[in-house]
Amino acid sequence: MDNPVTSSVGDGPAFVEVALALPVFQTFTYAVGATPVRPLVPGARVVVPFRGRREIGVCLEARDFAPAAVTVKSILDVPDEQPALSPDMVELCRWVADYYAAPIGVVLRCALPALLTGAARPSPAPKTRRMAVLRAGGGVPSLLERDRAFARAVRQRAAYELLESLGGRVAAHVLLEQLRCSPSVLKGLAERGFIDLTDEDVDRDPFASRPRSAPPAHEPTATQRNAIETLRGASPGEVILLHGVTGSGKTLVYLEFLREVVDVRGRGAIVLVPEIALTPQTVDRFRAVFGDKVAVLHSALAEGERYDAWRALRSGAKRIAVGARSAIFAPVADLGAIIVDEEHEGSYKNGESPRYHAREVAVVRARLAGSVAVLGSATPSLETWANATRRKYRYASLPSRVGGGRLPSIEVVDMRRKESAAAPERASHGGVLSERLEEELGATLRRGEQAIVLLNRRGYAAFVQCSACGDVVACPNCAISLTYHQTPERLVCHYCRHQEAPGATCRRCGAATLRRRGMGTQQVERLLAERFPRARIARMDFDTTSGKWAHATILDRVGRGDVDLLLGTQMIAKGLDFPNVTLVGVIDADVGINLPDFRASERCFQLLSQVAGRAGRGPKGGRVIIQTRVPSHHAVRCAVAHDYAGFVKSELEGRSHPAYPPCLRLANVVVSGHAEDATADCANDAADWVRRLVEARQLAGVSVVGPAPCPVERVKNRWRWHVLLKSERPVPLTGLAQYFVRRFRVPAGHGLRVMFDRDPVALL
Ligand code: ADP
Ligand code: ZN
Repeated sequence: MDNPVTSSVGDGPAFVEVALALPVFQTFTYAVGATPVRPLVPGARVVVPFRGRREIGVCLEARDFAPAAVTVKSILDVPDEQPALSPDMVELCRWVADYYAAPIGVVLRCALPALLTGAARPSPAPKTRRMAVLRAGGGVPSLLERDRAFARAVRQRAAYELLESLGGRVAAHVLLEQLRCSPSVLKGLAERGFIDLTDEDVDRDPFASRPRSAPPAHEPTATQRNAIETLRGASPGEVILLHGVTGSGKTLVYLEFLREVVDVRGRGAIVLVPEIALTPQTVDRFRAVFGDKVAVLHSALAEGERYDAWRALRSGAKRIAVGARSAIFAPVADLGAIIVDEEHEGSYKNGESPRYHAREVAVVRARLAGSVAVLGSATPSLETWANATRRKYRYASLPSRVGGGRLPSIEVVDMRRKESAAAPERASHGGVLSERLEEELGATLRRGEQAIVLLNRRGYAAFVQCSACGDVVACPNCAISLTYHQTPERLVCHYCRHQEAPGATCRRCGAATLRRRGMGTQQVERLLAERFPRARIARMDFDTTSGKWAHATILDRVGRGDVDLLLGTQMIAKGLDFPNVTLVGVIDADVGINLPDFRASERCFQLLSQVAGRAGRGPKGGRVIIQTRVPSHHAVRCAVAHDYAGFVKSELEGRSHPAYPPCLRLANVVVSGHAEDATADCANDAADWVRRLVEARQLAGVSVVGPAPCPVERVKNRWRWHVLLKSERPVPLTGLAQYFVRRFRVPAGHGLRVMFDRDPVALL
């Protein structure tokens, strides 16, 4: 060593570059000093002095020299025997930080359990909580019986019905809070034998107690075998789009491929699912085949459990990590494969910094770790599709359902005609349920089969409007109308959760002519209960799934046949495999189709295709009825015809002028603040700043659009403006992004903030 300030012992480096687990872009140089005993390689955790405190960081790389003109401090400790992150994980974190222009320390927090970054609170003592559970056999199914049983107990009825719609099992405090009633109501229900009140552990791991039945041992079909062979034959770093229609048996393909990767090659794997709670069936299938080799990473894990799972994966004691988007950072040793199931799902995009897309991170990690990435979907995202057609990704397809099953036939009911022809009293239902759908629902119930009913709008009514002056009741904090909820009765903002009691008169003109317009799931639930009083109905939406495992509880009831009609928002469209579901009804296909967002049509097409795919998965077959006012919209038309290629063709035309992904790369810069003027000014400055930079650096193929107010121009009392950066190639955008987030000065005052979102999934 010829550096005079060298202080290392032995052959180790003199200095190391350290990223602290803090939200700062900068990294820091520390001297190795005399004390460290353990190898200081990239990925090792270190304890360092920083601003008078001991902070935890990760060593990124060795350095022979320290930067001049800074006093370099020494590392205090190297706490672990083995580096916490493997070299490819260090590379991955750096890529995420660079590509998404996020502070490296924030990315490290995704890759390390909170207990290792010093971010974890001390783990609380195990607590129990009181649960209300519908008593088996204590049900009051029909409305008629209910009227009798609860004639003089209105509050008990409300609690009973809320508990029922919440899946039959929920923390007692949830009921009490939502209904604002006293515990005596629940006690009354318990004494009358309708419900049980029990105490259970808060941190009970629900997957530990789920049955782990052996899976049916299916022989792969010839088509499945082809797909499995393609995956087995893939070389390290390769990406394969597995395009299989709903019910084509993609899960079996994943399982057989992983058998080879894990059992034969002895490597590890990551399986990403859109949301653990919504896909318990998929998770169960992996656990059934691989048993103790699987670590299910879910949000209900306590910090200690999360750390245990992390260690077991890092050491190779467990070989497969199954989880939602954050599991892409699981420290699986010798990673052989990454599966991204339902790769088109928007939930793979992280909503806060680092704003990564788990599918894109999967592709990069596969390259860095020498693994094979499999992106599976019936309705691939246009980005993935474009990569497959450009031969960047390989393509494997399962074009038909297993066992000769046919895709369900889809019928369209044009709700425009119905409304104009309907008698006024029928129109008062707002044309919720067409005769056709009602008839098929009745027939399905009579045959003892199950139905799924989709309406992608929660609450009772979409909004409340004065029919005298047209005023719509809006949120005081957001530029959005309030949604009317009936149980409990209030107006709710779905953006900021503001709530208020519904007024009797219009706030603008004072007339007593407030009308509820547009329907939500609560209203459809009531209507279905009226029309089919004997049917057992379960509603699944944001409001009925406040408990962490409420989804799984409801879905288990459907699987056991305890539910005849499953009604819900988009959460009932994903991955469910119930052979006795023979009818799917879509109340309003048009929800969201006209949102001012370039992905609105794609989301609508995917949702309709996915929910239709829940029908007819058993030998009895199935049908789908879609109600719409825009039957000729290409999203509806192509979903009805099971025509993915047709949808892509017309959607790509729409995205070429003006250009949107996948025709180019996008970044959304959102400026928000308390004052409208200051926010607009700051957005203007940001746009000018970027334009000057693009010019100065002569960045070809980059354009700056805006600024303009965001489609939802105020949220939580913050005004919002945005600037769009469009680029033909990804590389210039990376440089631009990093320079912008580090150098652009946000003026002080007015609570101004700038958010940088690369590859946004929505522009609202
Ligand atoms: P996808 O995810 O493609 O919609 P799934 O993986 O859920 O489809 O499979 C649909 C159904 O077909 C499941 O019930 C599964 O058990 C069954 N299945 C899959 N492969 C076969 C096979 N080779 N033979 C018989 N049944 C199969
Ligand atoms: Zn609001």
